[in-house]
Amino acid sequence: MPEAPQHEVIVIGAGFAGICMAIRLRKAGLRDFVILERADDIGGTWRDNRYPGVAVDIPSVTYQFSFAQNGNWRRVFAKGAEVKEYADSLVAEHGLRPHVRLGQDVVSAEFDARRHCWLVRTAAGDEFTARFLVSAHGVFGKASTPDIEGVGEFAGRTVHTLHWDQDYAPEGERVAVIGTGASSVQLVPELAREVERLDVYQRTPIWVMPRPDVKLSPRARKVLDRFAPARWASRGLVSTGIELAMWLGVTNYTRLPFLTKRIEKLSLRHLRQQVSDPGLRERLKPGYDFGCKRPALSNHYWSAFEKRNVELVTDRIKRVHPHAIETADGTVREIDTLVLATGFKFFEYDSVPGYAVRGEDGVDLRDWWAENRFQAYEGITVPGFPNLFLIPGPHFATSWSWLVMAENQTAHALRCITHARAQGATYVGIRRPAHDRFYRAMRRGHRKSLFTSASCADSNTYYLDRHGEPSIVRPQSSAKVWWRARHFPLADYEWRHPVPDRPKQPGITASNRLS
Ligand code: NAP
Repeated sequence: MPEAPQHEVIVIGAGFAGICMAIRLRKAGLRDFVILERADDIGGTWRDNRYPGVAVDIPSVTYQFSFAQNGNWRRVFAKGAEVKEYADSLVAEHGLRPHVRLGQDVVSAEFDARRHCWLVRTAAGDEFTARFLVSAHGVFGKASTPDIEGVGEFAGRTVHTLHWDQDYAPEGERVAVIGTGASSVQLVPELAREVERLDVYQRTPIWVMPRPDVKLSPRARKVLDRFAPARWASRGLVSTGIELAMWLGVTNYTRLPFLTKRIEKLSLRHLRQQVSDPGLRERLKPGYDFGCKRPALSNHYWSAFEKRNVELVTDRIKRVHPHAIETADGTVREIDTLVLATGFKFFEYDSVPGYAVRGEDGVDLRDWWAENRFQAYEGITVPGFPNLFLIPGPHFATSWSWLVMAENQTAHALRCITHARAQGATYVGIRRPAHDRFYRAMRRGHRKSLFTSASCADSNTYYLDRHGEPSIVRPQSSAKVWWRARHFPLADYEWRHPVPDRPKQPGITASNRLS
């Protein structure tokens, strides 16, 4: 029998997806797993993103696992620190700490086709082997730095929203923010309150909706904490609302295009309420359909531009100087600090996952995707990469909460792992026809989605990949995705059993030589 790997499962990443996988493994009675985490703490995106104003963008009741509902959220939209506390509490309550190996930055994973296992190498030179590999890499792990001339030569402080310097005090400074995505929407109002001058460089405007955020009263928290039906009811109500908006407005856009227009009207009304200057309003107004790019929720972003110390800059940045930014019209604005709110490397060649993954026959996943376009069966498995579960792979994004998506994907992975163990199989590989059928269904579904709108193509949206395909989007309802994660046909996978090592052929010795 080939030599057994060190562990049954390796989980890469201790963000919410990795935590969810680990909880599921333990609940299934599987204890032989390790979680490799490159940082010195758990929590993923909520450990890293600590810029002023960071918070969830959907109500907290939906930004939690169904099996671990926190009844004690302090606000309707929890702040980042509270979400990180939630992650910490899950790790503590479910006894995950002993499984976590911090400071293990994975650089490669290779499938051993003879032993049916994965060999994972880390930057520190350590090696781990396991039968199954769950790569819970998330999508917001690598900061994207703009390719603007001179950006690396800025002599003052440069800070990316992903790596916010907790000791930085912006009071009284002249600050420039490049980027107007969801992070910028949360950060700008906070900076505007403190700095002497704030220049916000906008390339593409963002749609913004009002944020119905309030502190939860002690009484409301008590009810949510004590009565599970109250938690489920509030979660169900919010989820249904978001699901309907996404399902009708995004997934079935071509059938109901007027819905998107109605939502745009609500957002434009919000803009009128926030900004009195019609010229400024015009420059802040997006020129693409609502939903082509990730919209944001804020009651203070648009109004920040009416403050005397805040300027919206829409001229193209020509270059960054050691102490200033110059725009194409020749204006030079001096600054002390440059904030890059320029997002993440999202499903680029080497970003998701951010390490080399070599499957059967030594094929590199990045090259496989480059050749075949981004695709993964049920958003999680890829032909030629057995025993590997990507959380997420392409076509992962359904509707609302990242945590709900993680629950579905980990349910799929767990079903494969437990079935393999029950059958004594050591190889679980998605069959090409099943995978191709899923991919064709995704492409068919995309044809009625919002992303067919011509305006999306011009919106610089990361929902569209370099082929112009919304390859992260799964155009199906959450209910269907939930069901499929737990009931996909097991026959879609190939289950192989260990091949015993062939006994060594006895050599010809003096005693067995034919005389
Ligand atoms: P983002 O949405 O990718 O936005 C990046 C911004 O930087 C865009 O405005 C982009 O302009 C601009 N930019 C990039 N390169 C540029 C260049 N060379 N010159 C000028 N501008 C440039 O990134 P993000 O705001 O960090 O948000 C990323 C994602 O994180 C969100 O979509 C969301 O899923 C998640 N997020 C979630 C929350 C939450 O739930 N609370 C909060 C923040 C972020 P263009 O638009 O023209 O490309």
